[in-house]
Amino acid sequence: MSHIDGGRTASPAAELVEISYQLGSEHRDWASVAEGIVSALLGEGSMLVKASGSRMRDAGPADFVQVRLANLLEVLDDADAGDPEVRAAFDGSLVHPVGRRPSVESLLHAVCLTDGRARVVAHTHPVAVNVSCAPAAPNSWTSARSCVS
Ligand SMILES: [Zn+2]
Repeated sequence: MSHIDGGRTASPAAELVEISYQLGSEHRDWASVAEGIVSALLGEGSMLVKASGSRMRDAGPADFVQVRLANLLEVLDDADAGDPEVRAAFDGSLVHPVGRRPSVESLLHAVCLTDGRARVVAHTHPVAVNVSCAPAAPNSWTSARSCVS
């Protein structure tokens, strides 16, 4: 049964594939370089989330991983956690270790699905936002402090 649409139609993975495809479609320019993440709350304290390294418009069911939310939330609450602890939390969060990891941005999705009480979360990197954040000259990246003027 799907938790995304109340059980009307497809599996969560199939629905996330469709959402990912729609948001990542090139003609929309919503996902620069096909970047973005989609996730859905599943039962038993887990979420299904797009794996790192997959592209929005090309993601298939195998590009999603199920992770335990508690592992991600625990590392978020650990003020002393560094890269090794985050990496370990991600590895430990996988319900079915399949050789793929969730995106590091899954931490944001975990918060939205728990504290935010969302059922589905999607975010993209729209071309328009990336353009407005780009500095006038490539060598000024290092001096750019903000993309908001
Ligand atoms: Zn992102």
